[in-house]
Amino acid sequence: MQLHKILILGGGFAGISVLRNMSKLRHDAQITIISEDNFFLFTPMLPEMASGTIHPSDISIPIRKFCKNAEFIQAKISSIDLKNKLVAITRTFDGKVKILDYDYLVIAMGSTTNFFGNKRIEKNAFTMKTIQDAIAIKNHLIHMLEIADGEDDQKIQEKLLTVVVVGAGFAGVETIGEINDFIRDSVRHYYRNINPANIHMVLVSGSAGILPELDKNLSKKALDSLQKAGIRIVTKTKAVDAGEDYVFLGNGETIQCATLIWTAGLTIDSVITSLDCDHKAGKILVDEFLRIPKYPEVFVLGDCAAIQDNKTGEFYPPTAQHALRESRTVARNLMHQIFGKDSQERFNFESKGMMAIIGKRNGIATISGYNVTGTMAWLVWKTYYLMMLPTFEKKFKLALDWTCNLFFKKDITLIRKIKKKSLNRFDMDDISSLDQFLFNLEPEVKSVKTL
Ligand SMILES: Cc1cc2nc3c(=O)[nH]c(=O)nc-3n(C[C@H](O)[C@H](O)[C@H](O)COP(=O)(O)OP(=O)(O)OC[C@H]3O[C@@H](n4cnc5c(N)ncnc54)[C@H](O)[C@@H]3O)c2cc1C
Repeated sequence: MQLHKILILGGGFAGISVLRNMSKLRHDAQITIISEDNFFLFTPMLPEMASGTIHPSDISIPIRKFCKNAEFIQAKISSIDLKNKLVAITRTFDGKVKILDYDYLVIAMGSTTNFFGNKRIEKNAFTMKTIQDAIAIKNHLIHMLEIADGEDDQKIQEKLLTVVVVGAGFAGVETIGEINDFIRDSVRHYYRNINPANIHMVLVSGSAGILPELDKNLSKKALDSLQKAGIRIVTKTKAVDAGEDYVFLGNGETIQCATLIWTAGLTIDSVITSLDCDHKAGKILVDEFLRIPKYPEVFVLGDCAAIQDNKTGEFYPPTAQHALRESRTVARNLMHQIFGKDSQERFNFESKGMMAIIGKRNGIATISGYNVTGTMAWLVWKTYYLMMLPTFEKKFKLALDWTCNLFFKKDITLIRKIKKKSLNRFDMDDISSLDQFLFNLEPEVKSVKTL
């Protein structure tokens, strides 16, 4: 019997959850998942990784662990041909292209950071989206602490210890909260020559407040808490330019800083925006069944899908919470199509709550209409995300790291030797060169910014 071929594009929240939901259901299908990285990344905990609270391996899970009944290919998806049901993938290290055909397609390729065309900001800012971003930020911050400790000029020390985070959504707020604790705790414990008055943490928000997704009272509480922790919040302002050691704001202010982190917007990959279908702000516009109307065998979900809430007329926000829920609908609808059933399930979701951690043992949450703040909200956040993290092994490791953090100081080890190895085209049939490649391979760490 000919098996139905299903391709899942993207190994993030949406793609992995479709795969996991499909594996719970009985089907006669050959599933292949394709992603650039060979692991699934639990993004809500990236800020904690950037501050050294948790390890990269705590929140990254090899995609092959989810592939009991599926194939995994690590490759870049370079183009999609909806008319002919083909996907072109490019092997990441040598550019070799392969064409895959499909009967059903699931597009779950997420989003990328949007610099709104500002090349200078793109060049000078860190982003907070990938595991490499978090490692690079942590390494850079420790580097700045080390230099600042040996610096006698107070003006330069101040610049080295100024961190600006642009964007006051969940990623920006959690990032500044974590970094603020990390820098201040590390200075208190280890860096005796640093004057704490030289530490400046700035959060820049384009709107009137922070965390616009939350109820007004709660976002005001979060703002007050951050300010109390020593973070300056600049509202109704955009960052308009940046250099290696400064950021220029729309209100005319120039902030001298060694660290700029950009979390201010999302954009969609050109593989998606160039597809022959309807889009909204680059995202693929899908019907209530999460399919492309012109191509009902193609499902789209997660950050790259524009899904309208039929009740409110608004579009669902790009969150992990929504991606997880959408994946259930996609898995069921796929099954119905495979088994030749006419019925398709409508996507409908009302979020039960939102939450964020905003520093040491402090958080805010809104759950089923109730607002919770402080340590209780922090505990709710930790428990919820621990439960959400896939696999028992990772849950165990993460819980252990969190527990250790209650008793031990932050790790300030600086990985200084950064070696980048470019891998040019190489002959896969040549076993000796493959051995040499494997033997010489060193982990790649994004280069740190220098002042
Ligand atoms: C720092 C941070 C904190 C966040 N905190 C929260 C939170 O607290 N709560 C919440 O609900 N949401 C949070 N989010 C948002 C959440 O991470 C996203 O909404 C969610 O990851 C979307 O899932 P996705 O599968 O659509 O995209 P992703 O998880 O980004 O996955 C996309 C996948 O596609 C792959 N991919 C993309 N393009 C290609 C290509 N061309 N070739 C091959 N592979 C490709 C990527 O490698 C990745 O595996 C946070 C995001 C960030 C960055």
